[in-house]
Amino acid sequence: MKVRFWGTRGSIPVSFTARSIRPKIKKALFAALQAGLSDPSEIDAFVDKRLPFSVRGAFGSNTSCVEIVTGGEDFIVCDAGTGIKNFGEDALGRRLHGQPGVFHLLLSHLHWDHIQGFPFFAPAYIPGNRIFVYSCHGEADSALRIQQSPPFFPVGFSELGAEIVFRTLEPGQEYEIGGARVLALPQIHPGDSFGFRFFANGRSVIYSTDSEHKLDARHPASPFLEFCNNADLLIFDAQYGFAESQTLKEDWGHSSNIVGVELAKDAGVKHLCLFHQEPSLNDAELESFLKETRRYARIYKRDVPLRVSMAYDGLEITT
Ligand SMILES: [Zn+2]
Ligand SMILES: [Zn+2]
Repeated sequence: MKVRFWGTRGSIPVSFTARSIRPKIKKALFAALQAGLSDPSEIDAFVDKRLPFSVRGAFGSNTSCVEIVTGGEDFIVCDAGTGIKNFGEDALGRRLHGQPGVFHLLLSHLHWDHIQGFPFFAPAYIPGNRIFVYSCHGEADSALRIQQSPPFFPVGFSELGAEIVFRTLEPGQEYEIGGARVLALPQIHPGDSFGFRFFANGRSVIYSTDSEHKLDARHPASPFLEFCNNADLLIFDAQYGFAESQTLKEDWGHSSNIVGVELAKDAGVKHLCLFHQEPSLNDAELESFLKETRRYARIYKRDVPLRVSMAYDGLEITT
C-alpha cells in the first residue's frame, strides 16, 4: 500500500509569507557560504544533503487530505480538507486522462477543516465521475450541501455534475471499499470523530486524526490499542506537545506526540507518522518537535523499534 499526503496541517491552512520564507533563504545562503559552494552542478546535492528539511522544504500547508493507494482502479481518499483540491487535479491528470473515475471519500468527521476543500474538488464537477462519501456521521450529506449553499459558495451542491452517493458507516463493522477492507473506530473529539483502518495487499494503514487520547489510553484493554495492533503505518493526530495537551489544551480534542509514541509502541505499530500539525508552529519549530518525538521514541521501550516521521504535503510512504 502507498499513502500520499495532500493536506497535513491541523485546523486551518498555513500559507507562505515573505516573512516565513526570508529566514529559510538566509539559512540556505549562510550554509552555502560555509560549504564554499561555487559550482552550480553541486547545488542539488548541497540542498538534499546539507540543508535540513525545514530550510529546503516545508511542512503541511493544506488541511487534511490523505490518499490510500492499493493498486486498484478506484481512488480512496481520507477527508476533504483543502488538500483535496490538489489531489483532484492530480487524479484527473495523472490517471484518468479524460476518462470517468470512481472516488471513495471517507470523512473522519465534519469539522470545517476536513470538508472545506470539497467545493474545489474538480472531479465533483465532471459528469461521469462517481463519488461515494462515507462517514459515521449521518449528517455528512447536509454538511456538504450547507457549505455549498448561499451565502457561503456560488455553486450549489445540486449543480455538481458527478454522481455523488452518501453512505453511513457503522463503527466496528468491516466494509469493502475501493479494493480495501475498512474498519472504523470512534474517537474522543468534540462532536465525535472516527479513525479508519485500511487492509490491502497484506498491509494495514491507520488514519487517525482529530482524536484526544487521555492518560488512561494505554490501558491494555484500550480499543485503540486493539485497533492499531501490528499496523504497518499509523497516521496520528499529534497537534500538541505533552505539557499543553495535559494543561491549557486539555479537552480540545487533540493528542500529543508523546502519547502517539507510547500507543504506537504498545500496539506494535511499525511506523508512526505525526499528522494534523499545529498551525501556529513554523517549519523550524515543527522540525524540533519531530526531533523531540524521535528522541522519546528511542527512550520509551528501547527494545521495540518504531520509525517516526512527520507528514507534509507531498510526502509518500510505501508500506
Ligand atoms: Zn481537524
Ligand atoms: Zn476536528
